Amino acid sequence: MPEAPRRGRLFILSAPSGTGKTTLRKALLQRVPNLAYSVSYTTRPPRPEEVEGRDYRFISKADFEEGIRGGRWAEWARVHGHYYGTSAEDLERLLAAGGDVLLDLDVQGAEALAGRFPQSVTIFLLPPSLEELERRLRARGTDSPEAIAVRLRNAAAEMACRDRYRHVVVNDRLPAALEELAAIVGSYRP
Ligand code: ADP
Ligand code: 5GP
Repeated sequence: MPEAPRRGRLFILSAPSGTGKTTLRKALLQRVPNLAYSVSYTTRPPRPEEVEGRDYRFISKADFEEGIRGGRWAEWARVHGHYYGTSAEDLERLLAAGGDVLLDLDVQGAEALAGRFPQSVTIFLLPPSLEELERRLRARGTDSPEAIAVRLRNAAAEMACRDRYRHVVVNDRLPAALEELAAIVGSYRP
């Protein structure tokens, strides 16, 4: 009997906003072969440096809600006042291609997808401290003081969920955190 084609594995990253998840995700994609990024859909307005289709697919609230009614999302959540979701069709296409898939999801989304795909590897990134998290959010300079306050308020609740993840990585020094992430992905490969 012919062998079933290999399907990819999901690697799901979560972290409080400002931890460095986007920075690390981009570095990891450059570093590790055969890892595709699942670009999420969101109703959040784009940040200045963000590119449509690379960082997110930016859509209207009406289109997102239409997608909820139509079963378009493999998972979705409302985070910091905006909708975020993973397209079931996009994810299926990435998995069918046979490579592994990296996703950047909030805690609710991570739990939902890991439930549907039990082989998923869940990784929680932690900032070295809440003070450093606030410093990074301010240094990034992309969010209003109100948006930063919302993100900091949500951070403690998100961090309380870290034990539900298979791996926890502290993003203190960037190169060390990247090495740790690459080693985790490598440890699941033949
Ligand atoms: P997230 O995607 O988790 O919200 P970002 O990747 O946008 O976070 O990072 C937030 C800010 O912190 C950015 O300005 C980024 O350059 C900076 N940053 C990321 N990792 C580190 C690190 N290890 N040490 C210091 N600053 C960092
Ligand atoms: P940001 O606005 O900082 O890019 O992301 C805010 C939060 O939304 C982060 O915790 C990020 O992981 C999460 N997020 C991004 N895309 C998705 C998605 O498709 N689904 C879910 N559930 N969360 C997402």
